[in-house]
Amino acid sequence: ATPPGLTPREVATHCPYCALQCGMTLRAGDTGVTVHPRQFPTNRGGLCQKGWTAAELLDHPDRLTTPLVRDPATDTLQPASWDTALDRVVAGIRAVQADAGRDAVAVFGGGGLTNEKAYALGKFARIGLRTRHIDYNGRFCMSSAAAAGMRAFGIDRGLPFPLADLGRADTLLLVGANPAETMPPLVRWLTEQRGNGGKLIVVDPRVTATARQADLHLQPLPGTDLAVANALLHIALTEGWVDRAYVAERTTGFDAVRRGVAAWWPARAEQLSGVPVADLEATARALGTGGRVIILTARGAEQHAKGVDTVTAYVNLALALGLPGRDGSGYGCLTGQGNGQGGREHGQKADQLPGYRKIDDPAAREHVAGVWGVPADELPGPGVPAYQLLDALGTPGGPRALLVFGSNPVVSAPRAARIEGRLRDLDLLVVADLLLSETAALADVVLPTAQWAEEDGTMTNLEGRVLRRRALRPPPPDVRTDLAIIAGLAARLAVAEATDTAPAGTAPTTTRTPGTAPAGTAPAPAETAGRPEAAVSAGRFPTDPAAVFAELRRASAGGAADYAGISWDRIDADDGVYWPCPTEDGPDTPRLFADRFATPDGRARFHAVDHRPAAEQVCATYPLHFTTGRVLAQYQSGTQTRRVAALRRAAPEAFVELHPDLAARLGIDDGDPVRVTSRRGEFRAPARLSAGIRPDTVFAPFHYAGAGRANSVTNDAVDPISGMPEFKICAVRVEKA
Ligand code: SF4
Repeated sequence: ATPPGLTPREVATHCPYCALQCGMTLRAGDTGVTVHPRQFPTNRGGLCQKGWTAAELLDHPDRLTTPLVRDPATDTLQPASWDTALDRVVAGIRAVQADAGRDAVAVFGGGGLTNEKAYALGKFARIGLRTRHIDYNGRFCMSSAAAAGMRAFGIDRGLPFPLADLGRADTLLLVGANPAETMPPLVRWLTEQRGNGGKLIVVDPRVTATARQADLHLQPLPGTDLAVANALLHIALTEGWVDRAYVAERTTGFDAVRRGVAAWWPARAEQLSGVPVADLEATARALGTGGRVIILTARGAEQHAKGVDTVTAYVNLALALGLPGRDGSGYGCLTGQGNGQGGREHGQKADQLPGYRKIDDPAAREHVAGVWGVPADELPGPGVPAYQLLDALGTPGGPRALLVFGSNPVVSAPRAARIEGRLRDLDLLVVADLLLSETAALADVVLPTAQWAEEDGTMTNLEGRVLRRRALRPPPPDVRTDLAIIAGLAARLAVAEATDTAPAGTAPTTTRTPGTAPAGTAPAPAETAGRPEAAVSAGRFPTDPAAVFAELRRASAGGAADYAGISWDRIDADDGVYWPCPTEDGPDTPRLFADRFATPDGRARFHAVDHRPAAEQVCATYPLHFTTGRVLAQYQSGTQTRRVAALRRAAPEAFVELHPDLAARLGIDDGDPVRVTSRRGEFRAPARLSAGIRPDTVFAPFHYAGAGRANSVTNDAVDPISGMPEFKICAVRVEKA
C-alpha cells in the first residue's frame, strides 16, 4: 500500500549505501527516478552526495540487463538466457561437488544485502549446497568490534543505544572514525553535541574532516590505538576516576586489566604512539569527569591483526568508567556497510546461524534445522573467515567454485592481486551483481540483479534498528532479484539431485530432505512457468521477501538478535524496530545493558589486552607506514559510486596523501604520479600533499581498481579471533613513478 502522504509513484525508503540508512523518498517522474530527503531519526532530513545521486544507477547504461556466460572459444562474457546461465551454474557446481565434495563450492556474501537475502544465502549454502564454506565481506568491515562486543557484553549490536544519544553526550571520544566523510548526516549529532557544550575528542593518524571539528585531536602512529587506550585507563586509575561500585556490581575480570595497564605510563604511551602526555591526560580527564560519556570505535581501531584486542581496550576503558548501560553514556561501534549489522545476524558468517546463533551449538542447530525442515545433523559445521576462504580458492584441497553475491573482493580484499589470482584459478566463478564489477569481469557466469529501488526488504542500521526498504518499480524484464536467483539455483540443484536418484521414468517432485512450505511462499510467476523445479522452490526458498522475513523471524526467535516480534507493519508504525524484540505485543530494545549484560551471569567481562607491534614493521627497504580509508564521494569498492557522474567528478581517482616534509625528502611535488610498493605489490596514483598526515605515514583510499588499487599493497595478516585483515598498517616505500 502507498504510505500516507505519498502518491502511488512515490515510496518512503532508505539510502542504498551506508549503515546510517538515511531516510529518503523516491519519486518516479517523467524523466526518471528522483531522490528526496526524508525526515528520519538518523538523518533528520539530511543526505550526503552519495544518497542524493543514488537513483542514477537505476537506468545507467552500464547496468547489467541480461545474464552473461563466458564463451570458452573467445574467453569473453556473452549474453545468455536465464535457463542457459542457471544450467551452466548448476552443472558447474555439481561437477565440482561430485569430484571434490560438498565443501568444494563456496559462497561469498555482502554486508549490503537485505536481511532477507543474507538469511536466504546462508540457508542456501547450508541446505542447498550443503557446504560449510560461506562468509562475507563484512568480515573486512567490523568483525573485530563484533568479536570484542561478544566477549565483553555477550552480544554484538553496533550501537547499544539510539544515535540521538550522541547529541546529549558531555564527552564523545571517536577512535578511528571519520563520519564527516563516511556518513555526513551523522555530523549533525556531533554539531548538536558541541552546541550543547559537549567536548569532541578524535583519535586518528590523519587530520580528517572529523578531526578538524574536534576539541582535541590525538594523532597516534597507526597501530598504537591499543596503547593509547591502556594509558587512558592507567590515568583514570591513578586519578581515581574508575567507577568502583559499577566494576564490582556489573563486571568481572577487572583485576587482570588493572595489573596490565599499570605498565602503561603515559610517557611510555607517548614514546610509542607520539601522542603527548598532556593530550592523554586531558582526554582521560574529559572521560573520567565528563558526566555523560560515549566512546565509539570504527575501522581505524578494528582493521588490525590485533583489532579485537584494540577494541577490547576501549571497551575496558568504558566499563572501568561505568559507561555501558548508563543513561546517555556507553560504548559503541559505527558500522560501515548499509546492512553491516543485519548482514551478520542471519547466517552469512562462517560460524553463525540465524539469530546470531553459534553454528556449533547443538541447541541452535536443532532450532534452525527445525525451521528449515531438515535434520540437524545435515547442517554443515563452521567454515573459515573471509580472507582464509578467498586465499584457499583453487588451491589443493580448497574450494574450486565460488558464488559471489553483492561483493567485489578483487578491489576490497587485502593483498588483492593474490586474491584475483585465486579467483582466476577456480573451476567456476559466479557473480550476482547489478554492474560488471572487477570480480564479475572474471566470472564464468554473471547474473544481473535487481536494485534497491526494485525490491522490498528490510535492513538493520548501525543502531540495531530494523527498517523497511520499499520497491518503487519492478526490475527490468531480464533482471531478477537475489532471492529469485537463490531460489532458482536451489530448485535446479534439488531437481538434478533427485533425478540422479529417482528410478527411471519417474519425475522428480521432492527434494532430498523433507521440507514444509510455509504459507504464502509461492515463487514468483517468472520462476515457476513450466519449470519442474518450481515445486521444490516453492517450499524451500521463497522469492517473496515478506515470506522470507516471516521465516527469518521464526529462525531468529530466542537468539541474541531476536526478530520474532518485528513485523513490517510495526516497522512502518514506529520508524523502525530495535532488536531484540521477541514478541509482537512486547517492547523493542532501543537501549541495551540498563540492568544486565547478555552474559550468563549478567555481568560484562573485562579482558586484559596488551599492545603488540603491527604484523609488518618498517625497514630500510620499506620505510613508511601505509594506511587506507575512505573518501566522501565513494563507497566501498566503488563498483557503484565510480559510475555516478557527480561522484566520479568529485573523486575521480586514487591519490597518495603525503606530508610535505616527506614529499620534499622524496623529491615529490603535489600531483606527481607516485608508486607505492610493499612486499606484496604496488599501485600508482597522484601525490596529494597534506600537512594533516604524519611525516612517517602515507594514506590512500581503497575504492579504486586497476593501477590505483590500494589493496594491491595491504597486508593479509589477520586477527586471530575475528579474521579481520590488517588494512590499516603495513610497510611501504614511495617513489616518483
Ligand atoms: Fe546517508 Fe550513508 Fe546514504 Fe550518505 S551514504 S545518504 S550518509 S545512508
